[in-house]
Parts: sequence; structure tokens; C-alpha cells
Amino acid sequence: MKTMHTSKTAYRVGWLIDGSGQPALANRIIIVDGERFEAVLEPDEALPSEVGIVDLSDCTVFPALIDSHAHLLMSGSTDPVVRKYQLENTQCYDDRATIIAEHLAQHLSCGVLGVRDGGDQQGDVLRYKTDSTQPTSPVTIAAPGRARHAPGRYGNLIGIPVEAGMSLAQSLFSGNTRRDHVKIVNSGLNSLTQFGIETPPQFDADDLRGAVAAAREHGLPTMVHANGHLPVKLAVEAGCSSIEHGFFMGRENMRRMADEGVVWVPTTVTMQAYQDYLASQGHRSDPSFAEVSRKNLEHQLEQINTARQLGVTLAVGTDAGSPGVHHGTAMQTEIQLFIKAGFRVEAAIRCASRNGARLMGLLDRGKISAGLRADFLAVRTPPQTLPQALHAIVYRVVNGRPT
Ligand SMILES: [Zn+2]
Repeated sequence: MKTMHTSKTAYRVGWLIDGSGQPALANRIIIVDGERFEAVLEPDEALPSEVGIVDLSDCTVFPALIDSHAHLLMSGSTDPVVRKYQLENTQCYDDRATIIAEHLAQHLSCGVLGVRDGGDQQGDVLRYKTDSTQPTSPVTIAAPGRARHAPGRYGNLIGIPVEAGMSLAQSLFSGNTRRDHVKIVNSGLNSLTQFGIETPPQFDADDLRGAVAAAREHGLPTMVHANGHLPVKLAVEAGCSSIEHGFFMGRENMRRMADEGVVWVPTTVTMQAYQDYLASQGHRSDPSFAEVSRKNLEHQLEQINTARQLGVTLAVGTDAGSPGVHHGTAMQTEIQLFIKAGFRVEAAIRCASRNGARLMGLLDRGKISAGLRADFLAVRTPPQTLPQALHAIVYRVVNGRPT
């Protein structure tokens, strides 16, 4: 057999979803040179000389996925004993590092090559990321370390309260400032028992503006947990980079987010997971809770459709680590929920690839396009059934190499 002395490979693909949001293209040839995409060719264009050929002509190829909101330290278990252990086992970092590594493996098996973490109590995900004794993973992490919340308010599972006598900006930047983004908690959780209840903002406009400005000085984006009109409004007016969850934020906030380029990560799968959990409990759960969870889910899907029509940039994030929301597999559900809300498959994939990569500052990823890093996935199904096939990825290229 003749050995090819070339670093170039031509992938003949049945359908290409390139991550730009444009409709899938049939019968394309993707040329990869080393670690980069070199070109996407029409089927009748000439191949470069001395090129290896891989046949994926019965597959849909699409960019590697990014989960724009997950908590790598926590699993999606609904078992209270497991959750308590993961939250309270503060002594043994090695145990927690093992948990993080398992979750990264779960993401990888579902085609997720980037995870934007939403924070943990001790900043372990950030520590893990820079810990050279841990095994390397093809999954890129962006981590904020400890989130900040107001004293006495929601947020102690994912961060720490702002210290007495300090502003939010001082709390974030008076000590070690090494992190990938800043995470601020500016409301409570969305209520699972009462529909549409709004909690007050945790921080005032000045505090939020100061924190966003300080983050910008450090070159860092700001990720803000916010549900309800006022908590979202204050964060958007302060110039944050993204709103996380955004339940019941309303149309005016969305309009402003579209104008200002603030990204929305709706994490709808959390409500689907809660609905599924209640169903699994059968008659033991309060029927009024099931009704609230159904309405929460429906309302968020309506908001997603409105945001899409208003031109808000959305990114797919799962809040994996929440009860019933499992690392990796939750991406499939969230993408399907985007489609249920009105996105075309190709546009939902853009939210799950390119838009997430941009949020993580990975500007050379998330799209199959000449010059960008060659990461892609293949499933053996046409584009319209891709979301259902995401658990069955048949081919994966990371950084130009099949893995
Ligand atoms: Zn979260």
C-alpha cells in the first residue's frame, strides 16, 4: 500500500451544517490541512493533490458543540445523598477533580468540546483547569472560579457572598484575579412552586456597573445569573456580556439585549428536567407543582421564540449539574427545545457551536470555515433528524485529528 506523505485530508460529507446558521449544504468536501480547515468544496471541484480521502457521504457533519452554561463540579443526580456529598465534600480536592474529569468525559462523548462553567463554591473547576497533574482533555473549559452573590441571598452553591464593606467589584478583583470570566448572581432561582414570581435584584445599578467596568479592565466578560424584569434590566444596562436563565425577563429586556449584543443562555432543559422528575415521582408529588413546571417550560419556549424574532443572540447552555440535568446529554435536549421554540436545526446548531465559542472567546472555533480550527462531528442521518441523533456521533475530528 502506498503511504501518503500529506497532512491534508478530504472529507466527503453527505450534508454540511457549517455553524453559520445557513441552510445545510448537500454533498460537500471539507479539506483539512493539519489543524485547520483549508476549504469547503463543491462536489465537482478538483481535490488538492496528495490528499487522504474519508467517506462520510451518508453523514451530516457539523461543528463541535459548546455547552455555554454548566457546573462541572456537580452531577445531574437527583439523589439527595449524592448531591449533599458533592456540595459538602470540601476536604478532598482529588475526589472533586475525579468528578470534574468524569463530567468532561461525558461532554466529550456527546460532542461537546467546550464548557463554560457557571461557578462552584471553592473555585475548583478553575483550579482543575490549570492543574498540570490532571489528565488533559480535548474539552476546553472556561471557568469563573467562585461566583459572587449578595449576603443572605441565593448563590452559596456556586460561589461566595460579597465581603462586608466591599463593593461587588472590590470583592471580585481585590485578590487573585485569574479567571476566564466573571460570574455574578443577580436574582433568586426561578420558582418551581409559584408561576412567574420575581425576586428582587441582588445588586444595585452602581455596583453592577462597577463590576462590569472592572471586568472589562481585566479583559474579562461578565456572565450574570438573572431571572425577572428588574434583575435582568439592571444587568443589561450595566453592560454585561450574557444573561443566564432569564426566566420572565420580558420583551423590553430582549429588545435591549438585541441592540446591545448581550447574549442570552436560557437553560430551558432545567425546567424540562424538573417536569420529568415530578412525573417520575407520580402521585407522591403535588399536582400543582407539575402545572407550574409545565407553564414555566412553555413560557420559556415562548420567550426563546420572541428573542429569536427580535434578533437576540442566543447560546445553548444547559446548567448541567442541576438536578436531573446531566453533563453532555442535556445538550441534546436543550438543542431540541430550541427547535421546539421555533429555531431551524441549522440555527439551533449555530447557537450550540459558534455562539458558544464566541462567548468563551474561542474565536477560531464553532464553525466549519477556511482558516478555523478543524473540529467537527458526524452523525449518520440527514440534517432534519440530526437533533435526535446527537447521542450517536459516528465520527469526531478534534484539532484536525480523528479521535
Ligand atoms: Zn448555573
